[in-house]
Amino acid sequence: MRYCSTRGEVRGWDFRQVLFSGYAPDGGMFMPETVPSLAPETLRSLKRSGLISGALSKFVVPGVVSIAKLKDGLSILELFHGETLAFKDLAMTCTVRFLEYFLRKDGSRATILVGTSGDTGGSAICSARGLAGVDVVVVFPRGRITPVQERQMTTNLEDNVHVFAADGTSDDIDVPLRRLFADQDLVKRHGLMSLNSVNMARILVQLAHFLFAYLRLSGVDKTRAGEPLPALDMVVPTGGAGNIAAGCIVKHMGVPLRFVAMVNSNDIVCRAVQKGDFSMAPIVTQTLAPAIDIQDPYNMERVLWLLSGKNGPLVKQMLEEFQKSHRLPLPDTLHKELSSLMSAGSVCDKGIVESMRRCWEENHYLVCPHTAVAVWYHYQTPPRPGENRCYVATASPAKFQAAVQEAGLSQELPEAVRALESKATRYTDLELGEDWEARLRERIEAIGSARARGSPFYST
Ligand SMILES: *Cc1c(COP(=O)(O)O)cnc(C)c1O
Repeated sequence: MRYCSTRGEVRGWDFRQVLFSGYAPDGGMFMPETVPSLAPETLRSLKRSGLISGALSKFVVPGVVSIAKLKDGLSILELFHGETLAFKDLAMTCTVRFLEYFLRKDGSRATILVGTSGDTGGSAICSARGLAGVDVVVVFPRGRITPVQERQMTTNLEDNVHVFAADGTSDDIDVPLRRLFADQDLVKRHGLMSLNSVNMARILVQLAHFLFAYLRLSGVDKTRAGEPLPALDMVVPTGGAGNIAAGCIVKHMGVPLRFVAMVNSNDIVCRAVQKGDFSMAPIVTQTLAPAIDIQDPYNMERVLWLLSGKNGPLVKQMLEEFQKSHRLPLPDTLHKELSSLMSAGSVCDKGIVESMRRCWEENHYLVCPHTAVAVWYHYQTPPRPGENRCYVATASPAKFQAAVQEAGLSQELPEAVRALESKATRYTDLELGEDWEARLRERIEAIGSARARGSPFYST
């Protein structure tokens, strides 16, 4: 399979090239040049590969992903049984294994540099810690993530893990990171790479979330050859829109999915779907579902590219305009395509709390505040008889204890979460007024020198 950029100026890259890069050189995002179609017979015969089994070996439920079937057709796809209790573990553990495979093959090394608003950092660290050939440098906004998220990062004392706590917002952190990634010499010398959902490999692994849900919840196994495939609606709590983009690729492969993109008060995706208004609000609103407090749902570029019939020049023109002015009225035909592919809804904090409470009262089942955003749709628009629907659960409530308390609920914490309390921590502070770019650059260079000497970073 070959990959091209959504902005039409890069083609013919292979998986390895795409894995080790973020944005395409023309500023676009990588996508498969052609999306193969998938026959139901092939779907049924899909098996796990060795690399993937290894990557997923730490998941705590048999089968990696489980489904909770609750009252009135509320089927919840629990994607959060990995080590950091968020769905990102699924794609991250696999992507890091792919990296390691290629690095080992040619004896090179990479430095992963990640800014995180909560879940990405912990997931990247837990996937990469202790691996030869990979260092991981994570910067998180101090005091703006939950205590569990923070400890999932700071309690990793492996030599290849470097955690920085910055006195600022995730937007403040983005500035020095973008400068470091723009330094081609630094990027080349240290194999500097990102692992956010710009990375196409993560999106590819996420196709499996949707295939799995389809096989388990659509009833396709009860249909016979020649009969039309049953449809499945996927209700997805949406932030950067990586999950939704993966789902759209699966749909293009011929699997009859429909989507409901659910957001919190940061509602740009909802406005785009409902009104064709893809425009940022002036500020990010902090909500009880912080992992989807997102202004720039950058994976929508992938969705728009697919919907436009892979029209690179159009996507380039639209997204360059969006990046300049933060506003994009979608062309009518594109808006029609988008609104027939998915519907959307937005939930404020009050709705999040109500949805958590009602789900608990009716089922004795606790959802995290992000999952509650999706479940809200169930309570507003219950499925009709015969309609197949799946709600994506993106994290465990144990990570978001303050939101659970705000809903007036309580929970028993998993042993792994309680154990975080008493573990030793290690991280470096980045204070206000310091030159963060210089501090991070210094660390990246020091890691490189330590590796060149063959000595571990922290014991020198
Ligand atoms: C990252 C994250 C999301 C958003 O996922 P996207 O694929 O970027 O839309 C939703 N919920 C949780 C808990 C997350 O960590």
